[in-house]
Amino acid sequence: MAREISIYNTLTGKKERFVPIKPNEVRMYACGVTTYDHYHIGHALQAIYFDIIRNYLEYAGYKVTYVRNYTDVDDKIIARAKERGISPLKLSQDIITSSEEDMAAIGCRKADHAPKVSESIPEIIAMVEVLIKNEAAYATKSGDVYYRVRAKQDYGKLSNRKIEDLLSGTRNIVEGEKEDELDFALWKADSTPEASWPSPWGLGRPGWHIECSAMAKRYLGDHFDIHGGGRDLVFPHHENEIAQSESANKSKFANVWIHNGLLTIEKQKMSKSLGNQITLKDFLKNWPGESLRLAYVQYHYRSNIDFQKDTFIQAHKRLFYYYSSIQALDLAGKEQAPGKVIEKYSPDQIREKFHEAMGDDFNSSLALGELNKAIKNASEVLRLKNSPEKSATATGLAKIFRECLGVFGLLSHPPQETLNYLRTMILPELGITELEIQKAMSDRKTARTDKNFARSDEIRDQLAQKGIELMDTPAGTDWKIKYDGA
Ligand SMILES: [Zn+2]
Repeated sequence: MAREISIYNTLTGKKERFVPIKPNEVRMYACGVTTYDHYHIGHALQAIYFDIIRNYLEYAGYKVTYVRNYTDVDDKIIARAKERGISPLKLSQDIITSSEEDMAAIGCRKADHAPKVSESIPEIIAMVEVLIKNEAAYATKSGDVYYRVRAKQDYGKLSNRKIEDLLSGTRNIVEGEKEDELDFALWKADSTPEASWPSPWGLGRPGWHIECSAMAKRYLGDHFDIHGGGRDLVFPHHENEIAQSESANKSKFANVWIHNGLLTIEKQKMSKSLGNQITLKDFLKNWPGESLRLAYVQYHYRSNIDFQKDTFIQAHKRLFYYYSSIQALDLAGKEQAPGKVIEKYSPDQIREKFHEAMGDDFNSSLALGELNKAIKNASEVLRLKNSPEKSATATGLAKIFRECLGVFGLLSHPPQETLNYLRTMILPELGITELEIQKAMSDRKTARTDKNFARSDEIRDQLAQKGIELMDTPAGTDWKIKYDGA
């Protein structure tokens, strides 16, 4: 039996108990990207949150079918392809191939189905035909097809808009052959090579909204559990998807609508023209994908997120702290043959707290806070004298941390390699080199041999100010990136 969870539903404006259509199964659709340029970290935000939602639903015991489409037919793609002198589908395919590498590097699993618009044309045409038959749409002389918004009584229910409020000040001015200025395109007459297809209305291509309606129907049926995307898609995209699908299928569309918050960089929208756009490729040149996931997971998916200069460096340091904690627990687990787990550090309690937080509208921020507390407590275990109980507890804790942080897509790499990598990446940010640390450590050793403890402490403090912590162990002195772990 899957666990009971609650989800905030944009459609009702409330957090509700989630009731799957088929017991223990979830069918979920999230809108993918328009493939005209490489992904930036804003695209990654939506991909990562839905990846985590899917992971958590599975962890909670649901069988999930996840669909995430590619919009590979679009004005922007056609314009960009023209600039480059290549075909629109070639441009799209290049972007899809490269973005799949990026997605893998940030630990996002492939969707069960990743349909492309260019491969869904028969389904789209079939749906538009049904809409015309149901009098929810009409074709014009020039070969466009429009959806008749006023024919849908409850149009606006997702975004809480009334039809009257949607009318702009310029009443009665209806563009082209539209019956009503509110109507939106389902099919556009067009003859761009490789971006147009024959249809009952002549050569053309689909409008944006109908694509998702048709692809969702193909893989998930008329009525399914969850549909989602970024908050900027609520209106008009998702509103129009609901209208089309319900008018064509004569059935409710998705039960639950999930929308993630949006990303700003130091309070500004990310854009190429402002020069503050961070592509995933640039990010991944310098940092592991897990740092990006960690930076996002610390927020609730519905929050708007503002990244500050030090957001990433804090995430890298925290990631370092997680990996060093897990490595220490692994080692402690091997010290002795395991005995009984110490009750105070029971992994079951940690798992339960994690479920409580994540089962409440996927509250990753709270869940991560609980894990942070547990990881901090785990350092008490590491300080215990070696015993079978200590080893069993350390092993149990390492396992539960991997399990829960694994839902967030974290701790998926071998600790030592990752720590080495993170050390070399973080040092330039701290303004110190490994050579300088080694030199300081050797100076401190000399000072200690000379019993000049004031000097030895001074060196330790200077390093601490730079964010480097020295650890004196029986095997000698080692250093790590300082992080309080709170
Ligand atoms: Zn969509």
